[in-house]
Amino acid sequence: MERMAEAEKVTMALDDRVIDVTKGIDKLHVIIDKQKNEPGKRQTIDCPICGAKAAMTYVFSPYNGHLHAGCTVCRVSIMQ
Ligand SMILES: [Zn+2]
Repeated sequence: MERMAEAEKVTMALDDRVIDVTKGIDKLHVIIDKQKNEPGKRQTIDCPICGAKAAMTYVFSPYNGHLHAGCTVCRVSIMQ
């Protein structure tokens, strides 16, 4: 029973983390949509997930248009 309670706590913590990262990705798109974005041009912004100053870089691939973003502080890495 104790292991079930512990597993439930871990699952709830992971759910919270997924929700936080998802909200951060939504914020990232709001920020990016306001910038002049050229494919292949790497840009640095404050991380919309952990809030660290100038910690996230992102770039749109010149090959396929995918967004690649990552934070050096919270280590979130995004590819869409
Ligand atoms: Zn971060």
